[in-house]
Amino acid sequence: MDPAAIWSILEQVPDPEIPAVSVVDLGIVRSVEEGKVVITPTYSGCPATLFIEQSIREALDAAGFRSVGIETALFPAWSTDGISDAGKEKLRAYGIAPPDLAKTATCPQCGSTDTEEVSRFGSTPCKAQWRCRSCLEPFDRFKCH
Ligand SMILES: [Zn+2]
Repeated sequence: MDPAAIWSILEQVPDPEIPAVSVVDLGIVRSVEEGKVVITPTYSGCPATLFIEQSIREALDAAGFRSVGIETALFPAWSTDGISDAGKEKLRAYGIAPPDLAKTATCPQCGSTDTEEVSRFGSTPCKAQWRCRSCLEPFDRFKCH
């Protein structure tokens, strides 16, 4: 088994909630080890978790890596730090504010930091809904864990 080949397959597996980014971009794939892929779900209660595992399974099977297993590691928990720079760029292009250490989110539409959290729950439990006071556009933001 060639880990590089497996990584390149995983890079083609989109996140079910945000198809613009791959499971590798989001840091869901923790490692590729001998005979297995280790993944950490973005959010333990996320309904997409099972779907992500299935998508990875199908991609591996289609590429002939049927013997490669998928192991879910809940610890250490996934954090937004796992999102790659390329992933953050894609999220921004997709209109989702990438998480950062700042308390306020930056509007992906106009770049303003004059934003407010509207709801703890956005379009999915993994995201919070925010609104920009400058351009009044609503946007989703990944919750920092
Ligand atoms: Zn704005």
